Amino acid sequence: MDFELTEELQGLQQSVRRLAQEKIKPRAREIDTTSEYPQDIFDEFKKADLLGLCIPEEYGGSGAGIMGLALAIEEVTKYSNVLGLMLLLTRLPTGPIMIAGTEDQKQRYLPGIARGTHRASFCLSEPGAGSDVAGMQTRAIEDPSVPGGYIINGTKCWISGGMQADWFIVFAKTGDPSSRLHSNIRGFIVDATTPGVSRPRVDKKMGVKGIDTADIHFDDVHVAANNVIDGSFSLIMQSLNAMRPIVAARGIGLAEGALMYATEYVKARPAFAKTIGEFQGIQWEIAKCATEIEAARLLTYRAAWLADQGKFSKEYVPMLSMCKYYASEVAVKASGLALQMLGAAGYMEEHLTELYYRDARQLTIVEGTSQVQLGLIAKGVLGHDLWWD
Ligand SMILES: Cc1cc2nc3c(=O)[nH]c(=O)nc-3n(C[C@H](O)[C@H](O)[C@H](O)COP(=O)(O)OP(=O)(O)OC[C@H]3O[C@@H](n4cnc5c(N)ncnc54)[C@H](O)[C@@H]3O)c2cc1C
Repeated sequence: MDFELTEELQGLQQSVRRLAQEKIKPRAREIDTTSEYPQDIFDEFKKADLLGLCIPEEYGGSGAGIMGLALAIEEVTKYSNVLGLMLLLTRLPTGPIMIAGTEDQKQRYLPGIARGTHRASFCLSEPGAGSDVAGMQTRAIEDPSVPGGYIINGTKCWISGGMQADWFIVFAKTGDPSSRLHSNIRGFIVDATTPGVSRPRVDKKMGVKGIDTADIHFDDVHVAANNVIDGSFSLIMQSLNAMRPIVAARGIGLAEGALMYATEYVKARPAFAKTIGEFQGIQWEIAKCATEIEAARLLTYRAAWLADQGKFSKEYVPMLSMCKYYASEVAVKASGLALQMLGAAGYMEEHLTELYYRDARQLTIVEGTSQVQLGLIAKGVLGHDLWWD
């Protein structure tokens, strides 16, 4: 057993840490206030070759894997959860192509993401179907005029990066939408300029501002046979399983950032002829939070290591879900503690604590809520995928 990161990963961690301190820390508040897409930081990521971390070298990426991407996201999210999301979006929509795409699909769609010439989004959720993926109503019927082609109709919602995306991964049912048959579901790659694709509305949200979530509408959208992905419900699950450590990395980064911020504050804040940081009641809260962050980090790094070995099928679900569940809950807890440690100052916009607090809440909802993760972990224990005997 070796708990050290490789030299390469340590180098990556250090260089992203510097970039985060120099470029992201000073921009975090402004991005939240204006809600404008931070193109300048996208360009910084592009310059630093961070957009292709999880994409193999043969498709223009750097092949640092899920571990590399998770480490970079952890560093970035210490200061900005939305910029952690920006990096996450290099993997979420490319995952299904890397897992089940044809060689031609990989050649056409992965290099653009790695080089930062294209952006993409992952269209799964619908107004009537979030956690209940099999309840989706978006329909893909065979195109009678194009062999192997499909025509898609439906609406996806809360799609991160939907307004900037050049292409979408869209999941739809090829049979009766009322059927819950898993084999009825297929994945499609849809170029955003295809006739019938529209983005009718953007959400007004409480945090993670700067990258919009949007409705994406598909009205008789024709998809050619070479943009159909070979995979059904299990492809969705495998894609999301492999993402768990990447979302978890946002959780640990945010928790680390919030706790460091509040710790520096209490060390300087005088009260009762001491500083707040000298009181044991505060110190124990810092200690408990630091312990939980490190536990979440271990879960996350192990999950990233598993996913990089292709271990994201059913039997690995408990380990993968645990890191997402725990790290996102720790982020919520740490950001709440940090705000409390600053008192009134923590509630005001002069400090980043209220931003951490709002931004953290997204993490227990996206890509499988905490309740969904608990269900998956429990299923794994009940079915002995996770068992200690
Ligand atoms: C900021 C943001 C960005 C997002 N980005 C994307 C994106 O890019 N692409 C995309 O496809 N989706 C995206 N989503 C949607 C997200 O994936 C869904 O919100 C999530 O899957 C939960 O679905 P829901 O909101 O419909 O909640 P529901 O499924 O309606 O659940 C509501 C509540 O009930 C609980 N619940 C549901 N089922 C169970 C159960 N079986 N047992 C116990 N409790 C249960 C849930 O945990 C939740 O607390 C985003 C959401 C947000 C907030």
